[in-house]
Amino acid sequence: MTQEHRLKSGFETRAIHAGYEPDPSTGAVNPPIYATSTYKQDGVGGLRGGYEYSRSGNPTRAALEGALAAVEEGERGFAFASGLAAEDTLIRALTRPGDHLVIPDDAYGGTFRLVDKVAGPWGVEHSAAPVSDPARVAAAIRPGRTRLVWVETPTNPLLNIGDIAALAAIAHDAGALLVVDNTFASPYLQQPLTLGADLVVHSTTKYVGGHSDVVGGALVARDLEVAEKIAFHQNSMGAVPGPFDAFLTHRGLKTLAVRMERHCDNAERVVDFLTSHPAVGDVIYPGLETHPGHEVAQRQMRRFGGMVSFRVRAGETKALDVCSRAEVFTLGESLGGVESLIEHPGRMTHASVAGTDLEVPADLIRLSIGIETAEDLIADLERALD
Ligand code: PLP
Repeated sequence: MTQEHRLKSGFETRAIHAGYEPDPSTGAVNPPIYATSTYKQDGVGGLRGGYEYSRSGNPTRAALEGALAAVEEGERGFAFASGLAAEDTLIRALTRPGDHLVIPDDAYGGTFRLVDKVAGPWGVEHSAAPVSDPARVAAAIRPGRTRLVWVETPTNPLLNIGDIAALAAIAHDAGALLVVDNTFASPYLQQPLTLGADLVVHSTTKYVGGHSDVVGGALVARDLEVAEKIAFHQNSMGAVPGPFDAFLTHRGLKTLAVRMERHCDNAERVVDFLTSHPAVGDVIYPGLETHPGHEVAQRQMRRFGGMVSFRVRAGETKALDVCSRAEVFTLGESLGGVESLIEHPGRMTHASVAGTDLEVPADLIRLSIGIETAEDLIADLERALD
């Protein structure tokens, strides 16, 4: 299959074939795990395929990076050792002391910690704004100083929706770039670069890897100039995944489309159950017509995803109790794997924003809906709630 044919293909074909040609010497249909730190040179500087040292490049990682670029329809993809390593590289590549970022007012706690506690002391300031309100995002921009408008959509854990096209226009008018953390939607459900975003960030630990067996991150850039800065910093900072992790992440990506369809089917079933349960208050899911971001989500997402959050009427103690009582849902951080997870954001994933403007409600539970039998998931929640 030629590269040109590949780029015109459907999502699933790109996820499976882009980035790699069967190995010319053996015909191996999957990228071999090149467990090597260095490469023999044919005379000084005589590199084979450009490979000289595995921080700079490794064929297993290159295959993953090619596939990531293809599924996000970007110019170049970059793989990292974690989502936060990708974010750190992005911030250091594209900002300098004195610059300013706009971040979501319900950003993932680790992103907030990185921006506030690492980039902040280095001299990069930030303001938080709700991604669902473009006017407030625009108002948070500091003309001449804001370099990045950073959004998650859906956000973690409140599943707010940002209008990517509108936010891109706002960022570009101010001379800033729009960065979209696409972890919750995954490239199957949403492709921000096609809607005007400049960079996509992923924690590939989540849906892209999809099996809760590997930590990783990714950046995909829409244009070459930004890609070159990222490439330079990826090599200079060195937060790259090893070939085993790159292989696992790439293997996950190949089945992303079928997994996401099942995550969405199951999430819709769970949402139906939760909305009619008397112990449950607000159910937060962009697929619900009552969700304030429903129309925007419908426009920019293929379906509404596998993440569901809800509030427990009886308050925090009961919410903690429900988390502990679930059995099919595993109590744990992270999301996007084949197995369903339950967590209490206030005490777990978002503990780092406690006491700040980004604090999440104490009665909130977040579910990552897996691809198990839907009836088992519903029965488990019923037992835990009653
Ligand atoms: N972005 C989002 C939306 C996340 O949920 C996470 C982790 O939970 C990250 C980024 C950070 O990724 P990682 O844990 O792979 O460093």
